[in-house]
This record gives sequence, C-alpha cells and structure tokens, in this order.
Amino acid sequence: MQNTQKEKENLVLPGDVIATAEEYVPGKNTMENNGDVVSLAYGQLWKDDQSLTVSVLTPKRKISLHSGQIVYGQIVKMDQRRASVKVGAVFDRQLGLVEYVADGSIGMSSQYGKNNEPSMHIGDLIRAKILRIGDRGLDLGIFGKNLGVLRTLCTKCRLPMVKKNAALYCDNCERTEIRKVAEDYGNINIKEDMA
Ligand SMILES: [Zn+2]
Repeated sequence: MQNTQKEKENLVLPGDVIATAEEYVPGKNTMENNGDVVSLAYGQLWKDDQSLTVSVLTPKRKISLHSGQIVYGQIVKMDQRRASVKVGAVFDRQLGLVEYVADGSIGMSSQYGKNNEPSMHIGDLIRAKILRIGDRGLDLGIFGKNLGVLRTLCTKCRLPMVKKNAALYCDNCERTEIRKVAEDYGNINIKEDMA
C-alpha cells in the first residue's frame, strides 16, 4: 500500500504553500502569492515536472456523509451562540480528502475560554467532527485533541500565527491570540484523521 500512503501525504488545504513561483507555474486550483504558489482547494498536490506547473486535484466523488466523519472548513460567521462553518472537504476512509461543500455550525455555549474569549474566529481554518446531520446543515464539534483550529491569520496584519506554548503568536505584531487549536496546528497531518 505504498502508493496510498504517498497519496495521503500529498493532500493539501486552501492556503498551503505548495511551491515557490520560481520553481513552478501555478496550475489548477492554485495562485501565486508573494513568490509562493498557494493552494486554493482541498485536494491532492500534483507537480508536473514536464510543464513545471503545480496543481491541486480535487476528486469530486459522490459520497454520503455520516456522523463521526471529519470535515474541513472555514469559520464564516459567528455570534454568541453559534459559529457558522463553510465546509469545503470531508475525509473519507477509502478516498482520502474529498471536496464537499456544505453548511455547518458549531454551538458556542461551551466554546469560550478564560477572559470569555471565543476559541475560534472568523476566517479560521478548522477540522471538526460531524455530530449530527440536521435539516439546516451539519452540526459540528471540535472537542478532541485532533479537532479545532488548523490555521489562523493574525486579526491585525493577516499573517499566519504560530503556536507558542498554549497560545498563538504573531511574530510581526508581537501579540498573542487564543484559540482551541488542533494538536497538529502549524504542521497539519491529514493522515491522522483516520483515527
Ligand atoms: Zn500580526
């Protein structure tokens, strides 16, 4: 199963830097940003060394969701009670990361940390578990060490924040923010979703 293993290591998320623009030309589902080629989709990295293009392939397969499955998405709206999530992909045991667009939400009642700060913010990339499939979308949860925020941009300068001790830190602004982060924040490991 060497191939399957390899495939899964090449799964990328939106915002991942996948090459430098000097090495590769942006192909499908990618863009150039400050000299880097960045992924715009959830899918498999594909580097074509003949044409020197790099793309992200998004297998669009029909799959049916069930509770317990892991999804990836972005926080798009938040109020005191719920965080709305634009789901962009689901992890399927057989297929790996599959693009899947759906609306979801996370109940916020128990999502406030010390100082009453919410544990997520608009724009955060998250990994969540489907708790329930409701009429109005997916009920998601982020309890568990592999669940929560995977990538955060500083709310001031929009640069990615790094995990430092128990908080997230912006080197540029020298400020911290609090999130409920997944254990692999900063070094996202999609394979581990199998567990
Ligand atoms: Zn900053």
